[in-house]
Amino acid sequence: MPKNNVSQKSSKKSSPSGVSNFIRSCIFFLLVVLFASYIFNFYHTASHALETVPLSSVISRANDPNGNISKITVSGNELKITLKDKDYPTEKSLKDPSGTLYEQGLVDHCSDITNSEALASCKSSYPTIEYVESADVWGIIFDVALIVVPILAIVLFFSYMMRQAQTMNNQNIGFGKSKARLYGPDKKRITFKDVAGNESAKQDLQEIVDFLKHPKKYETLGAKIPRGVLLAGDPGTGKTLMARAVAGEANVPFFSISGSEFAEMFVGVGASRVRDLFQKAKKNAPSIIFIDEIDAVAHKRDARGGAGREDEQTLNQILVEMDGFDNESGVIVIAATNRVDMLDKALLRPGRFDRHVNVTLPERKDRLEILKVHFKNKPTAKDVDLDSLAAKTAGSAGADLANIANEAAIAAARKGVKEISNKEVTEAFERIAIGPERKSKVMNDHERKITAYHEAGHAIVGHVLPDSDPVHKVTIIPRGRTGGVTWFLPPEDRSYKNIYELKDILARAMGGRIAEKVIFGAEAITTGASSDLKHVSEISKEMILEEGMGTKTRNLVFPDNATGYYSITTEKPYSEKTAELIDEEVKNLAEEAAKRAEIILKSNKKVLDALANALLEKETLEEKDLEPILKSATLPDSAKNY
Ligand code: ADP
Ligand code: ZN
Repeated sequence: MPKNNVSQKSSKKSSPSGVSNFIRSCIFFLLVVLFASYIFNFYHTASHALETVPLSSVISRANDPNGNISKITVSGNELKITLKDKDYPTEKSLKDPSGTLYEQGLVDHCSDITNSEALASCKSSYPTIEYVESADVWGIIFDVALIVVPILAIVLFFSYMMRQAQTMNNQNIGFGKSKARLYGPDKKRITFKDVAGNESAKQDLQEIVDFLKHPKKYETLGAKIPRGVLLAGDPGTGKTLMARAVAGEANVPFFSISGSEFAEMFVGVGASRVRDLFQKAKKNAPSIIFIDEIDAVAHKRDARGGAGREDEQTLNQILVEMDGFDNESGVIVIAATNRVDMLDKALLRPGRFDRHVNVTLPERKDRLEILKVHFKNKPTAKDVDLDSLAAKTAGSAGADLANIANEAAIAAARKGVKEISNKEVTEAFERIAIGPERKSKVMNDHERKITAYHEAGHAIVGHVLPDSDPVHKVTIIPRGRTGGVTWFLPPEDRSYKNIYELKDILARAMGGRIAEKVIFGAEAITTGASSDLKHVSEISKEMILEEGMGTKTRNLVFPDNATGYYSITTEKPYSEKTAELIDEEVKNLAEEAAKRAEIILKSNKKVLDALANALLEKETLEEKDLEPILKSATLPDSAKNY
């Protein structure tokens, strides 16, 4: 299984947390501003160390030659007084200065003196009065800002909150009210026709449509109508679309909410929203409630320790509501998740989400159908080859394909052309499929070819070896971290494996890398086989150390630390020479497996080519497709006696 670092697209519906981030940063900003202004204000005041004196005392001191004032600066309704002996500014606020200081009682003692010497001495006795327009422009700006900025921040914050509340109200929401969006029958109706591919999922859901349309039919026969359906599948595979199509087909209202929205909520709000949502749905029954990303509230209770109490309340409320359904309630809950493994088991119990529908990544023919759906209403030039686009997009979800179609249309519109041509489609494909975020979602042609030969190698070696299990399915669609998969089905459960079976398993595990070597040469070794090689090394070590299956060490076992037979401090219970022998035996098994695989693949090169080509074309081959190709593969004598 070649590794291909397939990155899982993170959930695309993360906008609710964006909103809460915005609120959080607003609050943070507000706190910073308030704190900063407090600090500033504190220093501003402290640095001046002002002494306030009454105006009358300023005037009487200014009229006194020994009053010790050298200068009075008047600025607005503030006086700055400089004393003679020290530079010690003193301020006094004039509450209502009704004119100049002279009008307030200050006397100009030096006005009548003509003698210049006497005038100078007079002036040195009495303060000079200076009027300035505005003493400290920055100070005033600062003072104003000190008041205005926090107010502005508060106003902005509240207007944001109001806007939020308003949009919520438009969707019939308040705190504690369900945030569910309603797509009534009047809204653009989506049916199964809008969902391409996914035939088996559609078939499963057709039954639900029937329940909704003809509940009486089931009631009279005493059949229990299902309450919950769980749609499981990768992000963007069309789970939401499928749920809406069920509502559209049955022509019933569709209430939708996302599990991650609950995570947003204040304590206790999640549960009350659930109550409200179910109430609304029941009022409008028959109807569908769609809970997207249910894993956000329904993760295993032990998985996060005690952290998720609010989630737990929300989840409990969902369960309580579902348990309270009676057969006539006519509400079916459809939940979607891409992490079934994470879900709380309580959710999957009978009477809850007991129907599971898998929504898989589309195979090539389904990708073509999805592309057709999304290019249907777009004027497309003749040179656009959707079939080859479908071939190139292995591993892409429906959402990716819809995205390619949309991006191509946008690019064409930007260029001002009337039709989407192959150029725009290719650009869009490259942007979306091999763009920076999802680079490894799609393999390039050469990687696909390597993967096809690699998997074909596993399949052929496994098929011809007599003691290997039958090949069940081969695919080159990347899954998780692997580039492709070859499945072998054990025909029945067995507790023991014999040495021949183990050797066959080693050889077929080697088949992947050896096929690459046979086709592309020994120097073209790729990183795609590391998990195969790990497998080989584990099995061969086990055979020698634990099962006594070595040639020279037959029936001898060599327990090691890992198996816990002797403590880490004691020496190995065998000699250095035996240790070397063990290494040699393990190495022999792996080399033998590689040699066998090589003999088999070289003598079946035609089958190898045929199988690889079939995989390149169809990507996934089931038993019935494999049979006609594999049946001409043979086991050469030289690979038999091991
Ligand atoms: P999910 O809920 O599984 O994450 P969505 O239903 O939201 O995925 O799919 C996103 C979009 O991708 C859809 O609105 C649709 O345009 C497109 N899409 C996904 N799967 C299909 C499909 N099978 N057929 C047509 N369009 C699809
Ligand atoms: Zn492999």
